Amino acid sequence: MWIDSHCHMDRELLYQNSEKVINACITEGVDRIIIPSVSKANFDKIIKIAGKYKQCVYALGFHPMYLSEFEDGDLDLLEQYLLNNNAVAVGEIGLDLFAQKNNQLLQETIFQSQLKIAKKFDLPVIMHVRGAIDLVLKNLRKIKVRGGIAHAFNGSFQQADQLIELGFKLGFGGVMTYPRSKHIQALAKQLPIEAIVLETDSPDMPPEWLGNDENNQPKELRKIAEFFCHLRGLEPLKAAGIIRVNTIEAIPKLGELCT
Ligand SMILES: [Zn+2]
Repeated sequence: MWIDSHCHMDRELLYQNSEKVINACITEGVDRIIIPSVSKANFDKIIKIAGKYKQCVYALGFHPMYLSEFEDGDLDLLEQYLLNNNAVAVGEIGLDLFAQKNNQLLQETIFQSQLKIAKKFDLPVIMHVRGAIDLVLKNLRKIKVRGGIAHAFNGSFQQADQLIELGFKLGFGGVMTYPRSKHIQALAKQLPIEAIVLETDSPDMPPEWLGNDENNQPKELRKIAEFFCHLRGLEPLKAAGIIRVNTIEAIPKLGELCT
């Protein structure tokens, strides 16, 4: 069975059909889904979904692209939520200097605060990083968390090695399936298998076979995984076991909830 390590189940496209979406996952052999939050506006919704479907677990945190919704007191609120709920990670957090450069200082401050909170709660982090891997690495060296996942990784081999050394797994998903994604394919093919987790990032990031159809779903993880296995010349059955161990190593509470 496969784990989708990054899926936004709370987004309307998935949420309004959640029962169908989860049943399709079960049919396709995807039995666990990690749902990261993006702002306090979706905390309760995500917790509700995870309460309804045993396949779903969640992370709580503030996404760097949603900081316009961030208000004073939100970090305290995050700590309250972490105390009173069963989040498996802090996320998704990080830096996006590709989409937004004008609020770098705010992004970095909130990222650092959330790393400290993750450390305090001994939780891993799920990171969104674009155009800022070196800056993220610098912060991770200062504030030592217990690792986690760098989702949708698209950096250099050297940056990958540094993240792995800091206890992170690297997430690969639909983008890998496009013929033009030569670099991401090279990463997915050559990085140590122990460092890799798989994700759909649905409803975003449709894999090649969905074309421009926005309706990416967590069930696509199985075909994404098969693409990955083909790249590396791996038996899907064997790969599923390895990727499962990797994901649980990154997100240990997932293991407790998987029994
Ligand atoms: Zn995401």
